[in-house]
Amino acid sequence: MFIYESVDKPDKTVSLRCAITRLRNPLIGNVSISDADKLKIEKAFELRSELTHFEFNHSHEHIELKFAEIFGFMIFFYRSQLALQTADFIDEAQHNNVIQLVNTRKELLERAKEYIAERDDIIWTCPECSENTFLVSEQQCCFCHRKEQIFDCPTCGAENFEHDLIDISDAFDWAWDEGRTSVQSFGMEVVCCPECVSEAREKIDDIRRSQYDEDMAMEEYHFQKGK
Ligand SMILES: [Zn+2]
Ligand SMILES: [Zn+2]
Repeated sequence: MFIYESVDKPDKTVSLRCAITRLRNPLIGNVSISDADKLKIEKAFELRSELTHFEFNHSHEHIELKFAEIFGFMIFFYRSQLALQTADFIDEAQHNNVIQLVNTRKELLERAKEYIAERDDIIWTCPECSENTFLVSEQQCCFCHRKEQIFDCPTCGAENFEHDLIDISDAFDWAWDEGRTSVQSFGMEVVCCPECVSEAREKIDDIRRSQYDEDMAMEEYHFQKGK
């Protein structure tokens, strides 16, 4: 229950990013927070706001383990950076609870890594738990069980998380006529992977330019013929 006790204090949402930036500022806090740790803290707050808004769709177990990781980190952080004693900010029962969950998490992670080691599979970093436990072939993380669709980039064919594909349809020519929308996509797909974005946009510009040149030549031809 320590999770919910700590979570249900929405009044304490002092702007997190601001706080981290202040702590890292050599003139104010001068606390060394690595980018990985910063990401952890931000993820923790993300999850917390999801919880307070009841929008989460994670299993109870996953949430508990996630918080164990975060609390484990915070305890370490308070002690090492702020020189606080554990008893100053968490009671013994809660502390034991965290330690137990941290160990459970570690065990489960080891099991997931063993599972991966037995297979010849492509592994990506999971967007949910940030561990290298996402099995591309199963489109699922074998640690936190996050499912994520994987799509081939229509331009280069490389596999990507669906959420990493970028919509480039703003580069198409859109026209609205009497309530109807028509679009000239120049033979391109709506999305492509981050690697292909600039090339795809350039290609659209090239096609648009050559079509314009063609149209101009055509106009000139008809103009000359009509003389
Ligand atoms: Zn995961
Ligand atoms: Zn691509």
